[in-house]
Amino acid sequence: MGASAATLRETLAAIVGDAHLLVEAHATAPYLVDARNRFHGAALAVVRPDGTDEVAAVVRACAGAGVTVVAQGGNTGLCGGATPDPSGGSVVVSLARMRRIRSVDPANATVTVEAGATLAEVQAAAAAAGLRFPLSLASEGSCTIGGNIATNAGGTAVLRYGNTRAQVLGLEVVLADGRVWNGLRALRKDNTGYDLKQLFIGSEGTLGIVTAAVLTLVAPAHSRATALAALTDLAQAVLLLSRMKEALGDRLTGFELMSDVALGLSRKHHPDLPDPLPGHAWYALIQADAGAGATTLAADVEAALAEAIAADAADDATVAASGEQAKRLWALRENISEAQRREGPNVKHDIALPASAIPAFVASCGSALAMSFPEAHLVVFGHLGDGNLHYNVAAASGASAESLMHRAADINRIVYDEVNAHGGTISAEHGIGQLKREALARYRSPLELELMRRVKDALDPHGVFNPGKVLPDAARP
Ligand SMILES: Cc1cc2nc3c(=O)[nH]c(=O)nc-3n(C[C@H](O)[C@H](O)[C@H](O)COP(=O)(O)OP(=O)(O)OC[C@H]3O[C@@H](n4cnc5c(N)ncnc54)[C@H](O)[C@@H]3O)c2cc1C
Repeated sequence: MGASAATLRETLAAIVGDAHLLVEAHATAPYLVDARNRFHGAALAVVRPDGTDEVAAVVRACAGAGVTVVAQGGNTGLCGGATPDPSGGSVVVSLARMRRIRSVDPANATVTVEAGATLAEVQAAAAAAGLRFPLSLASEGSCTIGGNIATNAGGTAVLRYGNTRAQVLGLEVVLADGRVWNGLRALRKDNTGYDLKQLFIGSEGTLGIVTAAVLTLVAPAHSRATALAALTDLAQAVLLLSRMKEALGDRLTGFELMSDVALGLSRKHHPDLPDPLPGHAWYALIQADAGAGATTLAADVEAALAEAIAADAADDATVAASGEQAKRLWALRENISEAQRREGPNVKHDIALPASAIPAFVASCGSALAMSFPEAHLVVFGHLGDGNLHYNVAAASGASAESLMHRAADINRIVYDEVNAHGGTISAEHGIGQLKREALARYRSPLELELMRRVKDALDPHGVFNPGKVLPDAARP
């Protein structure tokens, strides 16, 4: 270790305290690998500040020493964005100790929280005030609100409430020179110049470190109806989505798609789960929520589904008769990823398309893959309500998963070219990180890349934050 690294470590220890400067391999290891064990990095140190002033002092010290900084929340990201590069030259700043709920304003339906609070802790704070924070992800027990903001996370309720961006009213951010921007305004209308917070939302730690946020809350759901619909094809799925939106309006909060293969995998690994409508090619898991005073929700969902079946927008449907039944239907959807993991590696794609383009995309991409990869099969599921598909390519039974994974780049190319040709995006909700950096260069225009680079250069001219993430090197004008 050089003298300058040792000096920086001493400075960092003086800021955060010896106990929160981690340098030993056993202590830093969990911070240096991503959630899928795909990316492995190294760091000069991991620091765990407790407070915005400490984060600012850490950034100032690192910037002054010419050392880069990688922000990390719950480390549940799926694109390697929070994993430092292997050079060992970065400092990882973990926000995990900064989890205070600073204030709740029930009359304004807002909460002000520190960035390291987990999503579940924010949901609990909202519930304690008789309100609800509508963002919901399977990782909510571990992911942090700072990470949600930095990745503009989606989840299962985007159809009704929008993604994280739609929940953020204000931000507090430590900038690349260590200054703190206090934009913690709890306003739903504010047209005073450029809306700076939007730049930081979804920037994956490349423009600043979010230290706190003001978030919108909504009224709690007093009644909930959950249904499973069976479908012949994706054209029917898109039609059913339109009909349910029309029938239920903003009470429709979730419309999750599952192929029979995806559902079959979920049940294979959880045989205790129900199989209420066997023998169909596709399924939609539908959720509707209503506020206080609503009494007809389940009946309305049932009627809308009956009308849809009569109009050939679904083959069959069942509505959960209890909260327990609803939970078990949701478990079918929520267990797909875990079931896939147990089956072995697969090439994953988190893509979005206009809902109307999904049937044509799935048909065309399926044919293109079948020609080049006859040994592959597709596991398709996702948030159809937002046009977001998890389009995963796995080895069919008897084929080698390893040889398929070796050709992941060729598979990605086919899938992303098809996505692009159908007006879609290569990243719906997980972001770019280091996983999709090169793909971003291919599917965003030179002008878009140049504008992104100009934003980066304006806010972080010396490249302090999260090197090697999001922007491809080729994006330099
Ligand atoms: C089981 C599982 C299910 C998931 N389901 C979904 C889903 O439905 N929808 C979805 O969108 N994602 C999902 N994810 C992905 C992941 O949970 C989200 O991306 C989440 O928002 C990441 O939060 P985090 O705190 O773990 O961030 P991290 O993984 O720690 O970091 C992610 C990125 O944000 C940056 N970052 C973190 N904190 C800050 C901060 N305070 N300031 C600036 N930058 C920061 C990091 O540098 C990195 O680039 C899932 C992941 C898992 C493991």
